[in-house]
Amino acid sequence: MYNLTYKRAKSIDEAKQFIGANPDAKLMSGGMTLLPTLKQRLAQPSHVVDIGGLAELRGIEVKGDRLIVGAATRHFDVASSAVVKKAIPALAYLANLIGDQQVRNMGTMGGSVANNDPAADYPSAVLALNASVVTTKREIAADSYFKGVFETALEAGEIITKISFPLPKRAAYAKFAHPASGYAMTGVFVADFGGGNIRVAVTGAGPGVFRWKEAEAALAKNFSKQAVSGLAVKADGLNADIHAPAEYRANLVKVMCERAVQSIA
Ligand SMILES: Cc1cc2nc3c(=O)[nH]c(=O)nc-3n(C[C@H](O)[C@H](O)[C@H](O)COP(=O)(O)OP(=O)(O)OC[C@H]3O[C@@H](n4cnc5c(N)ncnc54)[C@H](O)[C@@H]3O)c2cc1C
Repeated sequence: MYNLTYKRAKSIDEAKQFIGANPDAKLMSGGMTLLPTLKQRLAQPSHVVDIGGLAELRGIEVKGDRLIVGAATRHFDVASSAVVKKAIPALAYLANLIGDQQVRNMGTMGGSVANNDPAADYPSAVLALNASVVTTKREIAADSYFKGVFETALEAGEIITKISFPLPKRAAYAKFAHPASGYAMTGVFVADFGGGNIRVAVTGAGPGVFRWKEAEAALAKNFSKQAVSGLAVKADGLNADIHAPAEYRANLVKVMCERAVQSIA
């Protein structure tokens, strides 16, 4: 780890101003991704600005037809929240599949969505549920937020404050976890908003989360496992590594989607 200065922010405004004045500073929420990165000397920020303890960034509530989750809300709090379990049970289920107990006790939704690891779970829920990423500058629709491997629409100094999810009629997540890390080899989130408005988002299989539009169209006509079974997933462009070739992940996309649909239907 390189030397750096640790700063605990007292408010979002203070963090915003500090990051604005110190372009080499880095935000830290749960630290579950940032700390290993620093320990491996893969980043050398001048400061770490800790926003994980800010009460104004925490909390879960339903407001009208939306579920709002504060950016510094930990995975454990999402997984165990009675509000989330009632509003979007699939989101609580997903949160409970992230990493292990230690990671869930520290990692946060905002940190995960800001980091946009191609194998992270939350991006699939944010995209399939057509959520908005609310920041200190603006509100970004999920469809224009995720840009690729660890890339998002966030600009320098922009802080995610909350994620706002529209409530689906029904939704489900199915994940094939890497046996060592727990990250998604492939995870598929299916959301049905009624009236044929189905959204399917895939994580882990490609260089970033993506919508599987063929499955959305097929499920809009016939919401059944069989509708997905008839589809072919091309391996082109999917991830291939020592854990699995692209063809294996292509098959996982279909199987995980079938499982998600089956668990709903
Ligand atoms: C062993 C292990 C297993 C894991 N398994 C999984 C898994 O199965 N599935 C999964 O999805 N994830 C997994 N993770 C990652 C975990 O979910 C992290 O918690 C998450 O990726 C980052 O959240 P964090 O709050 O710890 O962010 P941090 O590490 O604090 O920050 C991550 C990045 O986001 C930035 N950032 C943080 N908060 C904000 C904000 N509010 N606005 C703007 N930028 C911000 C930081 O500057 C940093 O660049 C695992 C991690 C570990 C260590």
